[in-house]
Amino acid sequence: MPNKDKDHIINMIPHATACDILPSVARHRRRPVIKVQDGCNNECSYCIIQKARGKSSSVVPDKVLQEIDKYHALGFEEIVLSGNSLRHLWPRFKESMHSCKLLEIILKQTSIKRIRLSSIEVNELTPQLLDILSDNRICKHLHLPMQSGDDYILGLMNRSYTSSEYRISIENILKRFNNIGIGTDVIVGFLEKGMIILIKLYT
Ligand code: SF4
Repeated sequence: MPNKDKDHIINMIPHATACDILPSVARHRRRPVIKVQDGCNNECSYCIIQKARGKSSSVVPDKVLQEIDKYHALGFEEIVLSGNSLRHLWPRFKESMHSCKLLEIILKQTSIKRIRLSSIEVNELTPQLLDILSDNRICKHLHLPMQSGDDYILGLMNRSYTSSEYRISIENILKRFNNIGIGTDVIVGFLEKGMIILIKLYT
């Protein structure tokens, strides 16, 4: 089954419907993950996302709100917003929308108690996003992939920041929030055209 059809995998299970299965799967998760974006417009040299899933595409805001309300009604207090590149949310909409706008809409139009961002690129951390993170309903946790601390390797990886830009961003976060959890990904054994090994770190 091609990746783009994976949402229909439920149809391959005889006598099951999405309604039968999804809530029972979700019940075992403390934090349901809501996918708000897929694909990516970046071209990191080690990553196959764009080939596998194409350019960035986003779920329309109303659908995101419906998903949140659905999980809230099932008793969940927290949801995780997930995407490959939250910076590229809804680029096709006239009003340029990004993760800040999405968070504003969710805060205003739902009453879910906690909202958590999944992985986000360090250069998406605008002052506006940090302002919104101050809201009590947004979890004080960020996962910011670093991938390498070496500018030459970051260049080979085609990442869009330098090691010092990454460090300054982390320092800005820590100045603003003294009790925040920060996670990262580090690729070790990076070869320009070869295998990679990924390590996840959490503070
Ligand atoms: S930003 Fe993430 S998803 Fe996009 S190409 Fe780079 S590693 Fe892949």
